[in-house]
Amino acid sequence: MNSNAQGPQYDLVVVGGGAIGLATACHSARKGKKVLVLEARKFFHHSGSSGDIMRMFRILYSTPEDTQRAINSLKMWHELEKDSGEKLLWMTGQLNFGSNKSTAGAQGEYKKVKEALTKLGRPCRPLSKEEIEKEFHLTNFKYDGYFSPDNGVMNVPLILRTFYKLAQRNLATLIEKAEVTAVKVDNESVTVKATVKEDKDRFSDAGTPRTYTAKKCVIACGAYTNEVLKNIQPQKKYKLNYAVWDMVYDYYATDPKIDNIYPGMWVYFGERTDELYYGFPPVPWGPPNLAKIGWESTTQKTMKLPNRTDERQDLVPARDDVKKTVDFIKNHCLGVEPYPVYSGNCVHPHFGDHNAVLDRLPDPHRNAVVCAGGWSFKFLPLYAKLIYQVTFENKNIEDLWKELSINRKAPDPQKAEKEKPVLQYDSGEGSSGSS
Ligand SMILES: Cc1cc2nc3c(=O)[nH]c(=O)nc-3n(C[C@H](O)[C@H](O)[C@H](O)COP(=O)(O)OP(=O)(O)OC[C@H]3O[C@@H](n4cnc5c(N)ncnc54)[C@H](O)[C@@H]3O)c2cc1C
Repeated sequence: MNSNAQGPQYDLVVVGGGAIGLATACHSARKGKKVLVLEARKFFHHSGSSGDIMRMFRILYSTPEDTQRAINSLKMWHELEKDSGEKLLWMTGQLNFGSNKSTAGAQGEYKKVKEALTKLGRPCRPLSKEEIEKEFHLTNFKYDGYFSPDNGVMNVPLILRTFYKLAQRNLATLIEKAEVTAVKVDNESVTVKATVKEDKDRFSDAGTPRTYTAKKCVIACGAYTNEVLKNIQPQKKYKLNYAVWDMVYDYYATDPKIDNIYPGMWVYFGERTDELYYGFPPVPWGPPNLAKIGWESTTQKTMKLPNRTDERQDLVPARDDVKKTVDFIKNHCLGVEPYPVYSGNCVHPHFGDHNAVLDRLPDPHRNAVVCAGGWSFKFLPLYAKLIYQVTFENKNIEDLWKELSINRKAPDPQKAEKEKPVLQYDSGEGSSGSS
């Protein structure tokens, strides 16, 4: 792979056109950078982490620092709404209820979340279990809760298309069906090799190999990040220590006679970390009278993605996971039919501390920045800004948000009690040594 003699063609090549890749492209293009996005599949596909039609925006985090970051992100979302003329978030508020003994999980720690809200002086209304039943039609619980209005449902399809459109309007080049097969990084530039499949090649393996050069590169490949890092040159055998969670989402029919069955999103915190269930109200951009309700975990956790295919045939919602939600609905959700109307799934790279990685790679790959994992949708505008600062302004993530550093340790995603470095060096089949 030779670099272009006239210098790099682009300021930035973004590998992966999911939520993070598109947000990054949009932000950098609006900052005047010449941007290329290479996406292995079709844009807006449902085979990565950004499928489905809704995500939670919440400021409900266990520390005041993270809560404040979410508040900052909310401001950026509102600016984006103003700039794009689109309504991207539906601010419904969120009810948290459950046990004070509940430990940290995907939604933070129940008790600490409330403390963080209080510390920052954000509004928060206590609800008794009777009020929860009356307002949210959730029954058979012994717990009270609190309602925080600064939360809402994110319109995923519209958000992705808005980033795409704004990136394009700011002269970014976005190419789909372009799978990056090699990334070569040196002190001056990045050279990326991609196999570009045209639509006419849909049913064949034929592809056109192409080479692109840029000053910088952002690798935003979600659960596929390690596949790309494997092919980085000079070869370093990098590996991020995430597990791939194959997560189910289900939609359930609600009784149309009940007006406003959920006046906001809700999260139930049981005593065990994995007793975490959520619900969304039916949304104006989705099917009427269908509520997304689910278990916030998965029984499908692996350290390696199965072989990739272009179809979703290897992504089938796990029956055991659906059953957990069905049982929860039978016991607790009034006015909801306990059978999924439809289900899908998304793959998610899970780091043991639930945070993302957003950082540049170590030498000799400092011109490449990687961003993956975490419950990142709510932070997209903020991440895009941080990625820009780390990529183009030589800022250090340790100074901006150290919990996203590639150099941190996190509980091992397989054996949670053990902390391990997030960045590892693969020392051969099935084993990995830490850096
Ligand atoms: C079920 C579920 C629920 C969630 N709920 C929430 C929530 O409520 N709130 C919240 O804030 N976050 C939530 N998240 C997290 C959020 O959805 C993700 O953090 C976000 O969508 C990640 O986007 P991404 O761009 O990293 O990954 P992806 O969307 O997977 O994008 C990666 C892209 O890279 C492409 N790619 C891979 N390999 C290559 C290659 N070699 N060449 C080119 N392209 C390549 C893929 O095709 C893909 O399009 C949830 C995640 C899941 C799975």
